[in-house]
Amino acid sequence: MSKQFELLKKIGFVRVGGSAEELKAAQILKAEVEAMGIKADIEPFEIEDYVQEVAELEVLEPYNKKYIVRAYRFSENTPDEGIEAPFYYAENMTDVDIANSKGKIILVNGIVRLDLFRKILKSGAVGFISMTGTMLDTDENSDLLQRSTRDTLRAFGNLPAASIRIKDAFEMVKEGASKVKLTVKGQFVTRTSHNVVATIPGTDKADEIVSFGAHFDSVEFSTGVYDNGAGSVINMEILRHFVANPPRRTLQFNWYGSEEMGLLGSKAWVKAHKDELKDHVYMINVDVGGSVLGADQALVLASKEAANYCDSFMRRKGYAVITKQDIYSSDGVPFADNGVPSTSFIRFGTQGAGYIHDRNDIIDWLYPKALERTTKFVQDYAEEMINADVFPFAKVVPPEMTEKVDNYLFKKEMAEAAKLKENK
Ligand SMILES: [Zn+2]
Repeated sequence: MSKQFELLKKIGFVRVGGSAEELKAAQILKAEVEAMGIKADIEPFEIEDYVQEVAELEVLEPYNKKYIVRAYRFSENTPDEGIEAPFYYAENMTDVDIANSKGKIILVNGIVRLDLFRKILKSGAVGFISMTGTMLDTDENSDLLQRSTRDTLRAFGNLPAASIRIKDAFEMVKEGASKVKLTVKGQFVTRTSHNVVATIPGTDKADEIVSFGAHFDSVEFSTGVYDNGAGSVINMEILRHFVANPPRRTLQFNWYGSEEMGLLGSKAWVKAHKDELKDHVYMINVDVGGSVLGADQALVLASKEAANYCDSFMRRKGYAVITKQDIYSSDGVPFADNGVPSTSFIRFGTQGAGYIHDRNDIIDWLYPKALERTTKFVQDYAEEMINADVFPFAKVVPPEMTEKVDNYLFKKEMAEAAKLKENK
C-alpha cells in the first residue's frame, strides 16, 4: 500500500469545518510535513456556525404524521409552538407558484440557491422545506443533510427552513398534505477552523511564489476521502518531491479548512496574507480524486493562453486530462478574486460510481493508482513552470473569468442587498 494511500486512510474520518476532528486532521497533516524537516503552521480563523435545537414537521390535514426534518443552518426560528399554515408544493417557483405561496409553508425542488431563495422571500411564504437524497433512501441507509441559508442568502432576509428526505416529500405530495406545522429552533455560534501552511523557499527566483492548495475538511456524515482527502495527500507527495528537489521559485503549500462551508479557509488565507499576493504568480488547486472509474480534468481559471499551455503540456506528455478555461467551485476562487490565476485539478467519479458529500464517500471506492497518476501529472505540470527561466504565461485573470468569479461570489446581488439595507 502506498504511503499516500496510508495517509489518506489516516485522515479519513468525518472532519467538518470548525470541529475538533478537523483540527485533529490539521495536526496529522502538520506532523507529516514536519517529518520531512519543513516547518508547518496551523493558522486559526473564525467561522459562523449553527446549532439546531428543535426541528419538527407535522402534517395536520388531511392525515396526521410527523416527518423527520433538519433545520437549515442559520434558519430563522419559529415561535416555540411552531407555525401552522397551509402546505403548498411550489415545485420550481414559477410566477404561478410565487402567486400561490403567500402565507403558506412551501416545498421546493432542488437546492435552494440565491435566485430560488429570493423567489421564496418574494412570494410571502412563511417557511420552506427542500428535499435531499434520492427515492432509494431509507431512514436506515441514508443521512438527512443539513442545508444552509448562507450569508449571501441572508443578505436579503431569512425564513424558518428545513430539509426532508425525498421519499417523505414524495409521500406528502402524493397523499395531498394540505396543512402542516413547522417548528425550528437553533442558535448561531462562532467556532474556530484551521488552515495548515508550509513554505519551501525558492533557490534563484524566490520572489515569485506558486501555491498549492487543497481543502482537507469534509461535510457531515462523510469521511471525505474522495472530497478532498485525495487532494490533500496528492499535494503532500508533491511537497515531498520538492523537498528533495529544491524549486527555483518559492512554493507555498496550503491545506484549507471549512471549504465546504463556502471556501472559508481560502478566503481567510487570502485575507491574512493579502500583502504577499503580489508575489503569487499562480495557484494550483487539487479537489477530489482517487476514484477508480472517472476522468481527470483541469479547470483553468486564468487566461486562454494559460489554458492552452496546460492542454498542450498534457498532450505532449501523454496525460489524458480534459482541459478547459473555466471556474471551479473551490479554493482557487478567492485567489482569482485577488488577481491570482489558478488551475483546479479534479478527478470526477463517473456517474453511478462517484459519490460526493454523503456516507458513500469511502476509501473502498478509491485506489492508489488514481492518486499516483494525478500526483504525477500535477507535479510534472507544476515543475516545468516552477523551474522555468521565465514564467510560461502572464499573471492575468481575464475579464471573462473575472465575470464568472463575480457571479460566483454574487457581487452584483450583494451590492443590491447593501443598497436595500441602506434605503430601509
Ligand atoms: Zn471539495
